[in-house]
Amino acid sequence: MYDVFVVGGGPSGAVAAEDLARAGKRVALLDRAGRIKPCGGAIPPRAIKDFGIADEQIVARITTARMISPTGRMVDIPIENGYVGMVDREHFDEYLRDRAGKAGAERLTGTYLRIERDGAGTHVVWRDKATGVEKRSATKLVIGADGARSVVARAEVPGGDKIPYVIAYHEIIKAPEPSPDYDPDRCDVIYDGRISPDFYGWVFPHGGQASVGMGTGLDGVDLKKATADLRAASGLTECETIRKEGAPIPLRPMDRWDNGRDVVLAGDAAGVVAPSSGEGIFYAMAGGRVAATAAQAALASGRASDLRIARKLFMREHGTVFRVLRSMQDAYYRSDERRERFVSLCHDVDVQKLTFEAYMNKKLVKARPMAHVKIGIKNMAHLLRLVSPVWT
Ligand SMILES: Cc1cc2nc3c(=O)[nH]c(=O)nc-3n(C[C@H](O)[C@H](O)[C@H](O)COP(=O)(O)OP(=O)(O)OC[C@H]3O[C@@H](n4cnc5c(N)ncnc54)[C@H](O)[C@@H]3O)c2cc1C
Repeated sequence: MYDVFVVGGGPSGAVAAEDLARAGKRVALLDRAGRIKPCGGAIPPRAIKDFGIADEQIVARITTARMISPTGRMVDIPIENGYVGMVDREHFDEYLRDRAGKAGAERLTGTYLRIERDGAGTHVVWRDKATGVEKRSATKLVIGADGARSVVARAEVPGGDKIPYVIAYHEIIKAPEPSPDYDPDRCDVIYDGRISPDFYGWVFPHGGQASVGMGTGLDGVDLKKATADLRAASGLTECETIRKEGAPIPLRPMDRWDNGRDVVLAGDAAGVVAPSSGEGIFYAMAGGRVAATAAQAALASGRASDLRIARKLFMREHGTVFRVLRSMQDAYYRSDERRERFVSLCHDVDVQKLTFEAYMNKKLVKARPMAHVKIGIKNMAHLLRLVSPVWT
C-alpha cells in the first residue's frame, strides 16, 4: 500500500514524489518514459533556487531578451542581476526523477491506465513497460501529473476534459556560430502575426543546440511553415535539424484540482501554465510541491477536503501574476497593430524592470509610484489608440 501514487514523472510529478519521499511517505513515481518532452527549456532563477537545480543542468545562461515587432523593430532587454537558465528536457526530467528515486520514491516505468475503487480501497492500474503486464497498485492517494493531455484529469476531476490549449511546435537545431543575428546568450521573442496570429515565436539558444518554434490556439495555422518562415527570418534555415516536435500548452488553471476523494492534479494536468509567456516548468514544479503538501495534509487529517489546499496555496502565490498575464495576452496578442504597440511598451525601462522582476523571481514588485502611473498611462494610450503604434 502506497501513501501516494504519482502518475507522470515530468517536473511536477518528480518534485511531488521527491517532496513526499523526503517527508517519509511511501510513494510511487510512474512514468511511461521513452519520449523527450517538447519544450523550449527556459527556467527563471527562482526555479533554480527553490528546487536546488544543479549547475550542470543549465546548458545556457541567457542575459538578454530581444523583443521583435511585426515591422521588425527590436528591443533588447538586459536581464539584470541574473540570467534565464536553459535546460535540456532530455536530461533535466531524468535528473529530477533520479532525485526523487534517491530520496526514497519507488520508480516505476509503464503506462497509467485507470483508477479502480472497491471495498479494499483505491488502486492504480498500469501497464509495466518491460513485461507488458497489467499491474494493480493499492494507494491511499493519487497525484495526477501526467501532462497536458492528462488521462487522470479527464477521468477523475470535473473540468479535466475542457482545458483550453495553445499548440506549440518547435525544431531543435544545431546552433550556428555566434554572429550579429545569433547570440548564444540571447533569447529572441517574435511578436508577428505571420509567425503566430495569437501567441508568439521564439529562438532559444541551448549551448550546442537551439529551440526555434511558435504556438497558436487557432485551427488551420500551418505550424511547420510558420517555423520554417521564422528560421528563414532569423538566418537559421541552413542549420542542421535535430528534432521536430509539437505538444499542447494548457493556458488556464482548472477551477478544481482534486476530486474531493483521493486524487489531486499538478502541473500541466491542472492547466497550470502562465498565459502570455507559456511558461510551465517552474509552475509545474511549484504545482508538484503544493500537491505534495496537500497530500501530506490529507494523509495526516484523514480529510479528503484537504486536497483542495494545493490549488489554494498555488493561487495565493501566483494567481495575481496569472491574471495580469491573461489580461496582457487578451489585450496585446490579437492583431499586429496591438503587437506593435506591445513592443513599443517594452522600450520603457520601468516596464522592462517590472516584467523581468515578475518573471525572474515570481513577485510583483512595487516600483516608484510615478513609474506605475507612467506605465498605466502608456498602456491606456496604446489600448485607446491615442498614440501611434510605434510611440515609446
Ligand atoms: C513546444 C513547447 C515549448 C515550451 N517551452 C517552455 C519553456 O521554454 N519554458 C517553460 O517554462 N515551459 C515551456 N513549455 C511548457 C512546459 O514544457 C510544461 O508546462 C511542463 O513540461 C509541464 O510539466 P508537467 O510535469 O506538468 O508535465 P510534463 O512535462 O508533460 O510531464 C508529464 C509526464 O507524464 C508522463 N505521462 C503522461 N501520460 C502518462 C501515462 N498515461 N502513464 C505514465 N506516464 C505518463 C510523461 O511521460 C511525462 O514525463 C513548453 C511547452 C511546449 C509544448
